[in-house]
Amino acid sequence: METKQFKAESKRLMEMMIHSIYTHKEIFLRELISNASDAIDKLYFKSLTDENVGLSKDDFAIRITADKDSRTLKISDNGIGMTEEELENNLGIIANSGSLKFKSENKLDDESQIIGQFGVGFYSAFMVAKKVTVISKAYGSDKAYQWESEGVEGYTISEADKATAGTEIILELLEDTEDEKYSDFLDQYRIKGLIKKYSDYIRFPVKMEVTHSRPVTQTEEEKAEGKAPEFEEYIEDETLNSMVPLWKKNKTELKEEDYKHFYVEKFYDYNEPLRYAHVKNEGNANYNALLYIPGKAPFDFYSKEYEKGLQLYSNGVLIMDKCADLLPDYFSFVKGLVDSEDLSLNISREMLQHDRQLKVIAKSIEKTISSELKKMLKNEREKYEEFWKAFGLQLKYGIYSDYGMNKEKLQDLLMFTSSNESKLVTLDEYVTAMREEQKYIYYATGESIARIEQLPQTELIKDNGFEILYLTDNIDEFAVKTLMKYKDKEFRSVSSDDLGLEDNGKKEEIKAKEEENAELLKALAEGLDGKVTKVVLSHRLKSHPVCLSSEGQISLEMERVLNSMPTDQKIKAERVLEINPEHKIFGVLKESFASEQSGQIKEYADILYNLALINEGMNVENPLEFTNKVCDLLM
Ligand code: ADP
Repeated sequence: METKQFKAESKRLMEMMIHSIYTHKEIFLRELISNASDAIDKLYFKSLTDENVGLSKDDFAIRITADKDSRTLKISDNGIGMTEEELENNLGIIANSGSLKFKSENKLDDESQIIGQFGVGFYSAFMVAKKVTVISKAYGSDKAYQWESEGVEGYTISEADKATAGTEIILELLEDTEDEKYSDFLDQYRIKGLIKKYSDYIRFPVKMEVTHSRPVTQTEEEKAEGKAPEFEEYIEDETLNSMVPLWKKNKTELKEEDYKHFYVEKFYDYNEPLRYAHVKNEGNANYNALLYIPGKAPFDFYSKEYEKGLQLYSNGVLIMDKCADLLPDYFSFVKGLVDSEDLSLNISREMLQHDRQLKVIAKSIEKTISSELKKMLKNEREKYEEFWKAFGLQLKYGIYSDYGMNKEKLQDLLMFTSSNESKLVTLDEYVTAMREEQKYIYYATGESIARIEQLPQTELIKDNGFEILYLTDNIDEFAVKTLMKYKDKEFRSVSSDDLGLEDNGKKEEIKAKEEENAELLKALAEGLDGKVTKVVLSHRLKSHPVCLSSEGQISLEMERVLNSMPTDQKIKAERVLEINPEHKIFGVLKESFASEQSGQIKEYADILYNLALINEGMNVENPLEFTNKVCDLLM
């Protein structure tokens, strides 16, 4: 028989599994049981509308068989089964090949992280088994197939005998070593414990023949003699799991642990969730929901590949794995499930989108998420900041998108880094701390906090003792512009020409100086050949000679962001070069202009403009020319 090779990535993952020192090897059982349960789910769902299935709910089961003599553990199900092709495709390659790509890109070398993070499912069997055999018959097919593998060397597929639809997975356990007693996984108590721990809520019975012992009934004589009773063993078929879905259980029965376990297992996240909510809603919408706020963004979260959605159940039967309509985009990070009796089982995806009841549920879910986030912000600040670091960007996109339609709902969830000790503050905290004479909410933009702190434009505002919000993400200024105001306070960029803090005397003074030097400023602007719309004397600079600001709606930061997008049309902010009239350099300019060396003025203008660009963290337009000019000046 031909031995087929695993695809390269699968091979690597399998190698990792085989040589794994992962401490939770026991999770292989939960992975296989979850797969079995999913497979049964599929056939059960079919059975509701298709009489040919010939099974009723009580007929479905997962069975575990442990055989100490052959060191094998068998997990069988009467679910949907796999065709030959499916065996090949599902077990020969990893569905989520993104996981390994992620690993190599991020040098995530801690194997426990990768194993935990991406529910690697079936492959985990190789952590405990030297040989894995899968015998499967797909529902509706008359042939069964057997898939066999002893690890990375490859696998074989051949025809097999199996009467009914379903799958059997047979693990031949590895030899025991000093550190690892694989034979423990054949022990009925160990198995029972693992099922309770990881798979208790699985909705179909997980059955096993369990050996008990009981005292043999004694005769009257034996009793009279006071003889110790003898024990006999007997076998009983037991259901090891309680089967009630977690979300249908009473909240008082459940511990934080239970919710977290469920999350980690169900949503393949190695990290515990930051928060969960167990909702039992009655009234205009009847549903149970489990909602989780993850602690870390999945590796593909900010990519097109990420699919938002909650699992949707109708009375305990899974009807959709990722129902996107249940979550608004700005809450796309939420994981969880909704189970409602109000939804029809036979509803198609297309119809579901228009389902009125689903919309009512979605609205109610959104409210819950919002209030949970607010509670977290109020009561668990550290956790909220962790959440913010992972998903804040998504909320800021939420403010900006749909023409700001959702800004009211989201604005109190925002956080920005403050110039005060670089800590995160909410807008409410900012406004509450505003001094009476402070008119605006100030913000400054830049690629990093360190860069913004050095911006000349921030000097004057800081000198006035006002707090500044530091905006470092591309979306930030767009979000702030969409908000326009918070609690009646307008947002103002530190680069704006009206900062609302100059005393009028100084304004007049600068105006007079500008008139006095109108010719000089005009010459400087002309020297810059359209690079700036004008050159002005600055009232915001204190120690720095120059800075760049902008007129109109588009700031320099927005120009940068918009132009980094893949469009043909380039956008240009209306740049203004500001010169500090108190700086020595201004005197030099005046002198040079007075001596009528107008060629010189053009050079000065160019150098100053480039200096301002550097301060802004922008590229000098022609570095070679610039350095030559500076050298000329020095010589
Ligand atoms: P995942 O469950 O995350 O998709 P797995 O590696 O555990 O990844 O399984 C890969 C696929 O193999 C599953 O998606 C499913 O289609 C199929 N599969 C695994 N176990 C079974 C089973 N017991 N019955 C039917 N199909 C199965």
